[in-house]
Amino acid sequence: MLRITGKTTVIGIFGYPVEHSLSPLMHNTAFKHLNIDYCYVPFPVHPDKVGEAVAAIRALRLRGVNVTIPHKQAVIPFLDELSPEARIIGAVNTIVNRDGALKGYNTDGQGFVRSLREDAGMDPAGKTVILLGAGGSARGVGVQLALAGAKKVYLVNRTPEKAEEIAKVIADNTKAQAEVLPWTKEALEQALGTAQIIVNTTSIGMFPYYASVPPVITALLRPGILVADLVYNPVETGFLTAAAEKGCATLSGLGMLLYQGAIAFELWTGQPAPVTAMQEVLRGCIENRIC
Ligand code: NAP
Repeated sequence: MLRITGKTTVIGIFGYPVEHSLSPLMHNTAFKHLNIDYCYVPFPVHPDKVGEAVAAIRALRLRGVNVTIPHKQAVIPFLDELSPEARIIGAVNTIVNRDGALKGYNTDGQGFVRSLREDAGMDPAGKTVILLGAGGSARGVGVQLALAGAKKVYLVNRTPEKAEEIAKVIADNTKAQAEVLPWTKEALEQALGTAQIIVNTTSIGMFPYYASVPPVITALLRPGILVADLVYNPVETGFLTAAAEKGCATLSGLGMLLYQGAIAFELWTGQPAPVTAMQEVLRGCIENRIC
């Protein structure tokens, strides 16, 4: 148990619903591991109350919060400042309170890039990436890969208009090229000729649909390409299993979940996050279905 006193620094998470979030477990484990006087609590914030909830960060002197679905865009008008990546992505998942001044960050894409570097040993600089999907996570990951120096981002989505929107954001704000491709064998085969990384940012393969894999592309995989999945439940998706069978290196979404939290932890506390302890508790919770 964390020992909460009058001096304890409080961090929160705003979402609706919020009860399924793994962040309270991950962060409270980290605080306990380092024996620092912080605690992390969930706040179910109704969509009508976002402004009041953000004002409460100042009123209650919270050190900061995470922000999750559906509030990542809605909090922005109530903040004092945005980090460059949060401004480009147009979404905030972390707020830091510095003496009443609230700054919004987006650590989701940064978490993916850190996982790519630390877990897969790959630097995105100069790489060509195929992103499957064009939802909120694709926007964060695509922009951050481009800011980290990726040469080209191909966007492939069931609904192409959403991919076009992200391609425009990347092209307007970064040095990377961005191109939308149809989800066809011909287009994907051609892109695979130059790509080093494929990222599934769709929800295909998420619990309980273990057997589902992204259509068309799974059959086209070849050795030498890194296949990443943002889905973290299960830790190893059907897509990653199929990719490994084809001789590809793979990267689970668990790393992105971990490092987006680790970067937020470092912003709030000013100290390195205990990533091994955080990863163990996340993995145990997901694999043993106790969360
Ligand atoms: P989202 O905004 O709802 O976007 C979902 C995307 O998946 C859309 O592009 C959607 O296509 C596509 N999609 C869904 N079902 C599909 C299907 N049957 N066939 C083809 N495309 C399909 O969701 P999100 O927030 O980006 O999250 C996507 C996944 O990433 C989820 O599994 C989530 O758990 C995971 N995620 C992981 C992390 C992490 O830390 N590892 C962080 C965020 C999200 P349309 O546009 O055509 O509807």
